[in-house]
Amino acid sequence: MAFKTITVKTENAQQLVDITQQVRLVVRESGIISGVCRVFIPHTTAAVTINENADPNVRRDILNRLEQVAPSDGTYLHTEGNSHAHIKSSLVGSSVVVFVEAGRLVLGTWQSIFLCEFDGPRTRNVMVRVSAGMLPPTISTMPNSPSV
Ligand code: ZN
Repeated sequence: MAFKTITVKTENAQQLVDITQQVRLVVRESGIISGVCRVFIPHTTAAVTINENADPNVRRDILNRLEQVAPSDGTYLHTEGNSHAHIKSSLVGSSVVVFVEAGRLVLGTWQSIFLCEFDGPRTRNVMVRVSAGMLPPTISTMPNSPSV
């Protein structure tokens, strides 16, 4: 099992940043041949997703459509001024899972893993855990688990 936190400095208020290479590096360093790679972002105004890496207009379309759903200049109850980013973050989600086979991430030809920044620019952390095998550990094998 390998765990690493990737640090990403975003440059714009809203953008999709391709972090596939950084995640690939964690997988390679783990030495795990077959298993799963979980990518989790511990922020409430950013997200992670898997989508097309070829045409940058796909990224723009995603951001534009999310902006229509939750406009940056919309009226919200949350007084911090970034409710749109919280909403977009929840819509996109905070984690993705990718299989690892032959020591590599199993991604489609056009797929990349993206950090979605909705309230930048900021420094973001992305947690990557690579585990051997396809199933999570059972309750009984987890340390400090409550007895059932
Ligand atoms: Zn907020």
